[in-house]
Amino acid sequence: MDGRTARAVKQRLESLADAGVTALPKAGSRSVASAPPRPAASGQGTGPAAALALLRQEVAGCTRCVELAGLRTQTVFGSGPPDARLCFFGEAPGADEDASGEPFVGRAGQLLTKIIEACTLKREDVYILNVLKCRPPANRVPLPDEVDNCRGFFERQFAAIAPEVICCLGTTAAQALLRTTEPIGGLRRRWFTFGAARVICTYHPSYLLRNPAAKKLVWEDMQMLMAEMGLGG
Ligand code: URA
Repeated sequence: MDGRTARAVKQRLESLADAGVTALPKAGSRSVASAPPRPAASGQGTGPAAALALLRQEVAGCTRCVELAGLRTQTVFGSGPPDARLCFFGEAPGADEDASGEPFVGRAGQLLTKIIEACTLKREDVYILNVLKCRPPANRVPLPDEVDNCRGFFERQFAAIAPEVICCLGTTAAQALLRTTEPIGGLRRRWFTFGAARVICTYHPSYLLRNPAAKKLVWEDMQMLMAEMGLGG
């Protein structure tokens, strides 16, 4: 192995360890299982990309949460392929996301990228979105009214994307999607459904930044997700 390859291998192993990976699959595993082709859209302006583009505009003009709309730099709609097999569903934009308009770009986002890569996927393979599209002041937890105001948006995003699997990151996302008050610890390690999608819940990457010991629990959840989706062998 030359020096460059060795450095690349070292970097990959460090990234996997950061994501909480405790063991590697055997050689010869399958990597990204690609989605079967969707039926072609029947006309111009239909299909998931068009539906999401329209919805993005609607979100950008939303003023339902007067406080959040008054404080935001911009809305943070979501990113990824409109026909992604897998969606990661977070809580709300933070300062970095409010500034850039993209979800999960700060420290928690960097950790999420490592978790996605540990699942043998690339960030560009998955769709990432939040419950709220506007940053709450000082990153406070979204209020029930704010979640209700954004519910129609995230539900329509999921309807357009029609993912096979939704992974809820943390309490706010899990409770909002599943309409439950059960704590995240009790929602992990179980499968739920949302429409035709299978739903799995795990800890939020921000929680992992404060409690790195929980990474191994997230990795257990990701192994369930990978088995369900036929990823990684
Ligand atoms: N936390 C979230 O839940 N979403 C983001 O986009 C960033 C941090």
